[in-house]
Amino acid sequence: MRCYICGTPAEAIVSGALNECPCPICGHYRISNTAIALFEMNRWHFNVEAARRWIASELRWGETPLIDSQRAVLLT
Ligand SMILES: [Zn+2]
Repeated sequence: MRCYICGTPAEAIVSGALNECPCPICGHYRISNTAIALFEMNRWHFNVEAARRWIASELRWGETPLIDSQRAVLLT
């Protein structure tokens, strides 16, 4: 597997509708299957800098950030 944001090889953990990705560069985040589908359907790419900033800010709260389809729109 590769990080959905930057493409760095990472051991993604798939559990139901969520994928967990502990990217060594972006940080540990979760992404929903619907968000992934949205990216593929629209051929979107993550705004890598914006995504990393957002993940870092969420991690400060001690939560594993979840990129759902609404969040995904904001990070393209
Ligand atoms: Zn990454």
